[in-house]
Amino acid sequence: MSKEIKNIAENKNFKAVCVGPWAEIAQFVTGDFKGKVFLKDALGTTGSEISFGALPANTALPFFHAHKQNEEVYLVLKGNGKMQIDDDVFDLQESTLVRVNPQGARSLKSGPDGMLFMCMQTKAGSLQEWTGADGVPAQTESKL
Ligand code: ZN
Repeated sequence: MSKEIKNIAENKNFKAVCVGPWAEIAQFVTGDFKGKVFLKDALGTTGSEISFGALPANTALPFFHAHKQNEEVYLVLKGNGKMQIDDDVFDLQESTLVRVNPQGARSLKSGPDGMLFMCMQTKAGSLQEWTGADGVPAQTESKL
């Protein structure tokens, strides 16, 4: 049985959830993949898919894959390992970020301490404005 995502708060403009302590990500099950949780449905995202994955020691992702239209950004939260993109293999450690074009064939493998990572998928080429160009002052007062 899979661990559940906990709902924290929501209104018409947001939804907040909690996946619990990093050490418990391994308890999520998505299909045949133990240690994987996808957040699109839980968060109601419309422009991205975020997932967390926990790989036990010396374990590779179950499939070497590419995407049709989404680029991915991987962030190593804990542990280390290796990543293969096409024919290139390189080391991953805590705080490493990797962006992969949709066409890049990719997989990860954890090292002896296992690895916890986040993956964010977004449609390649979809970002039109960011940070200061897209942020505007809110029409209400902050309570913080
Ligand atoms: Zn992928």
